[in-house]
Amino acid sequence: MIINNLHSSRIELNLSNLRTNADFIRSIIGSDCRLSFVIKGNAYGHGIEQMVPMAEMVGINHFSVFSSDEAARTLAVKNENSQIMIMGFIADEMLPWAIENGISFYVSSMDRLKATTEAVKNTAANAHIHLELETGFHRTGLTKNDLQEVAQIIKKSHGRIEVVGTATHYAGAESIANYYRIQKQMEKYNELCNLLVSQGIATGIRHTACSAATLTYPETRMDMVRVGIAMYGFWPTSETKMNYLLNYGLKPDGDEPIKIPSPLKRVISWKTQIMSLHAVAPGKFVGYGNSCLTTVSSCFAAIPIGYSHGFSRDLSNCGYVLVRGKRAPVSGVVNMNMLMADVTTIPEARKGDEVVIIGNQKGTEISVSSFSALSQYLNYEVLVQIPSEIPRIQI
Ligand SMILES: *Cc1c(COP(=O)(O)O)cnc(C)c1O
Repeated sequence: MIINNLHSSRIELNLSNLRTNADFIRSIIGSDCRLSFVIKGNAYGHGIEQMVPMAEMVGINHFSVFSSDEAARTLAVKNENSQIMIMGFIADEMLPWAIENGISFYVSSMDRLKATTEAVKNTAANAHIHLELETGFHRTGLTKNDLQEVAQIIKKSHGRIEVVGTATHYAGAESIANYYRIQKQMEKYNELCNLLVSQGIATGIRHTACSAATLTYPETRMDMVRVGIAMYGFWPTSETKMNYLLNYGLKPDGDEPIKIPSPLKRVISWKTQIMSLHAVAPGKFVGYGNSCLTTVSSCFAAIPIGYSHGFSRDLSNCGYVLVRGKRAPVSGVVNMNMLMADVTTIPEARKGDEVVIIGNQKGTEISVSSFSALSQYLNYEVLVQIPSEIPRIQI
């Protein structure tokens, strides 16, 4: 079913799989821990405008974004009861806007705290801030030396600056080999939280865990987890996946792992269609250059997807798409808007046939993982490169 004939491809978003992922995360964190859904990077390429209402349907009411532009897009589509938290960029002059709209934001530096002090002078609402603590990631965050002054400024605001949360971020929780560094960060986080409390500042909700930490390090879950990639149905890394499945899938008495299905279900599918079919005689080069030479009488399908759509050039001559439930190899180089797929062994292929780039077709699957394994990219990077203009529909 082609729902929008203007575009060469479409994205389907599966509500029931999103619910499965949300239920799974909620089952492991328990009812005392909140779930914030991370929707930065256009909801990991899925589309903020589509994912926010879908997430609300499955009971999510807290959204984490990177920047103020993402917060504005979320604000435009969320319902009244949902909350927005900015974890990264917001210009000082936009702070009053965030405050008036009830958007909470990270305070990661003294500058941001001072700008917040100025901003509340011009707002009726109080500022809701999350103190981001530097615990060993060495990217952004308040250091131990800052905390005394932080406490003074907050107290002097007479309640106008409310600390609603205290956060940190781990440097590589997706690797079990990083165990020591994560432990050190947790210790540092607890030390700094205690220091804040001793200065008379309540920390609000404590939140530190991304998907990998949530799945691998139970102690990091605290009052709220900030989960991105797992909510979309992907494991942060295969290490996280193996660790989780082995921990929960091993029989108590033996070493035979019980085959447990992955509890995470892919939300996104990406589909297009065959634009035209071309018979090519043996001994001819297909497409630009000479990387693809036919050795037999061949048939190629022109597929209207290229690197401008986020289909990496690295998949030239090595990726594949699905046609009639079979793998059709990408042949020759991926062009800006098109690629050629070899359908010689799929003689039943016809113009207009559905072509799956990510998803299932008749029991065969291309997951983003296999797509990204071929192109050396992480799931994250492949997903965010899917252009926002491609129509997205909920199924
Ligand atoms: C992106 C991000 C997350 C979510 O990471 P996932 O691995 O996708 O779960 C959590 N916290 C912060 C600060 C982030 O930037």
